[in-house]
Amino acid sequence: MKIQEYQSKQIFSKFGIPIPRGQLANNSKVVRQIAEEIGSNVVIKAQVPTGGRGKAGGVRLAKSSEEAESLATQILGMTINNLPVHKVLVDEAIKIKQELYLGITIDRSNSVPVMIASAQGGMDIEEIAFNNPEKVVHTDIHPLLGLREYQIRDLALSIDIPKQYWRMYQDIAAGLWLAFQKNDAMLVEINPLVITEDDRMIALDGKLEIDDNALFRHPDISELRDLDMEDPTEVEARKYGLAYIRMGGDIGCLVNGAGLAMATMDIINKFGGTTANFLDIGGGAGAEKVSAAIRIILSDPKIRSVLINIYGGITRCDEVARGIIDAINTIKTQKPLIIRLEGTNAQIAQQLLTDAKLISIPSFSSAVQKAVELGKAK
Ligand code: GDP
Ligand code: MN
Repeated sequence: MKIQEYQSKQIFSKFGIPIPRGQLANNSKVVRQIAEEIGSNVVIKAQVPTGGRGKAGGVRLAKSSEEAESLATQILGMTINNLPVHKVLVDEAIKIKQELYLGITIDRSNSVPVMIASAQGGMDIEEIAFNNPEKVVHTDIHPLLGLREYQIRDLALSIDIPKQYWRMYQDIAAGLWLAFQKNDAMLVEINPLVITEDDRMIALDGKLEIDDNALFRHPDISELRDLDMEDPTEVEARKYGLAYIRMGGDIGCLVNGAGLAMATMDIINKFGGTTANFLDIGGGAGAEKVSAAIRIILSDPKIRSVLINIYGGITRCDEVARGIIDAINTIKTQKPLIIRLEGTNAQIAQQLLTDAKLISIPSFSSAVQKAVELGKAK
């Protein structure tokens, strides 16, 4: 789960990382008051959990409280990456000498957290990482020993941070590691971390992404979940305990088990199709859950066909068949369903499907081929 900039920065601040003075607002009149209270230039920042706000015009500098109000009116009407802006952060404007990048994520190939640093942060960090990879340095963090002081000094040295800032850099990097570790984060990021004209170091932006599987340990963060900022279909799926991720292609998929679900998507691609979604109904799903899953898949208007691929172990094929029949009876879709059920109680399932005038295909590859053929744009 991603949280917003203002929330991330508040968490960072608890770990000793300096942030600008600022306040949140949901209308432009309040923005004007906040700007007056802050009493200097302010930056108005769209609060949506996505990157690239600056480039989209969602981060603007205001030189007066009147300008703050009018910019806020514009920003509060925007959508950035399909997310509507309902709130803005009004921060005191900072005079910047240099923009740095500092972040921590998980390096999955080495199975360790990794700290990433650059002396050229800001809105073009992706291009810098692509064109001048030597300008981005990183260090693995031992999960038990944590981030050591010498590692931070190494980073500071290799990106040429002047010595006078090392103490501040040290404290910020150490604080960022603690924010990552204590919150079971998958990503923490400060971009830009700035050196100010008066020689302070401040986190101007903040990102924190927490591992959904650890949310139960962080009720304070789970509370921050803002359903307006998430794909409504994914929200609906979570209610039923279904793992659903929209992929944007033509063929809807309903599969049991994450491994089989991914293999199914790979094979669809191999046969020339594109998948509309990942959906794992989990082990032992009952008819009700299956029926909800079909409804959720079909709610995607781009779908052309649906492939149901079940290898029944603790999941009973007859339960799945009942769920399919129930869904078909209530939704009455015109879209073709291609069903392949194998394993526990498959024969009972076949009979139920036949009685309901539905066809199942026993072979995995024939089922995929059929789904791709029927799922092609006409
Ligand atoms: P993002 O585009 O979503 O990553 O939003 P950021 O919060 O990183 O802001 C984008 C850019 O706006 C930063 O890289 C800065 O260059 C600029 N910016 C943000 N806050 C300030 C500020 O207080 N003063 C100045 N001068 N520039 C700022
Ligand atoms: Mn940023």
